Amino acid sequence: MTMPDQTSTRTTRENGLEIVTVPCLADNYAYLVKGPDGVAVIDAPEAGPILAALEARDWTPGVLMITHHHPDHVGGIRQIREKYGCPVMGPKAEADKIAAQGEALDIELDPGFEGGSGAGRCQVIAVPGHTLGHIAFYYPEGGALFTADSLMALGCGRLFEGTPAMMWQSLSTLAALPDDTLVYSGHEYTQSNAAFALSIDPNNVALRQRAEEITQTRAKNDPTVPARLGLEKATNPFLRAGAADLKKTLGLEGVEDAEVFAHIRSAKDRF
Ligand code: ZN
Ligand code: FE
Repeated sequence: MTMPDQTSTRTTRENGLEIVTVPCLADNYAYLVKGPDGVAVIDAPEAGPILAALEARDWTPGVLMITHHHPDHVGGIRQIREKYGCPVMGPKAEADKIAAQGEALDIELDPGFEGGSGAGRCQVIAVPGHTLGHIAFYYPEGGALFTADSLMALGCGRLFEGTPAMMWQSLSTLAALPDDTLVYSGHEYTQSNAAFALSIDPNNVALRQRAEEITQTRAKNDPTVPARLGLEKATNPFLRAGAADLKKTLGLEGVEDAEVFAHIRSAKDRF
C-alpha cells in the first residue's frame, strides 16, 4: 500500500452531525456538514474537491457559509452556487471585499445571528483579528465550531487587519464554549504550529504528547482537525496567554493577558 501524497478526507459523526473534512488548494480545509435538515458547506477555497466530495456522497447542499473574505476561502463560491443554486451566506462586514473578487453573498450575516443552517441550529460569532469581519460558525447541539483562520489547531491566524487585543478577545470568546466542542479550523498548519508551541512552552506535558500524535498523523497524511477545545486550551500557546506557568516560562509574570498574547503572536511571526 502506498501513502497518499495529499491529505486525506476525514469524516466525523457526533451529536447528530456528520462532518466531512475536504482538503483544498495546498493546505486549506472546506467542510460538509450534514445534519437533521440537510447539508451545509463551510468555506469554498476552490470548487473542484468540494463538488467531488458532495457528488461522492450524493449530497446536495442547502447553503454555502463563508467565514471571511480571503481568496483561499471564497474562490469556489460561484461554481458551487451555479451547480446547486444554494444561497451563499457570509459576513456582512466583508460583503464588499468578496464582491470585489467577482464572488457574491446572497445573505449577509451579522455577528449574533442565529438560525437554521440547513444542517441544524447555528450561531454566528464575531472573531475579528485575522480580518476585521471574520466570523465563526457554532453548532450548539452539534458541539461543532468552525473557526477558519481565527482559532487554529495549536495556533491562530496572522493579524492582517486587526490588533492583538482584538484577536485575544475573539479567542477568549471561543475558549468560553464547552470543552468537548470539536474545533474545525481552516488550514493544515498544525505541525509547524506545534514546533513553535514547543519552542515557547517546552515544559507542557500535554503539548509534548499532542505534538507526537500530530507527527504520526501527518506521517500518514491524515488531517489533524478537528481538535477538542479542552485540549486546545491546555496546549495552544495562544489560548494559554493567561496561564501563570506559561507567563513564568516567558519571563512575563504580572503582565496582562492580552499583552502576553501580543508577545506570543509577534514571536510566531518571527519564528
Ligand atoms: Zn485568511
Ligand atoms: Fe486562509
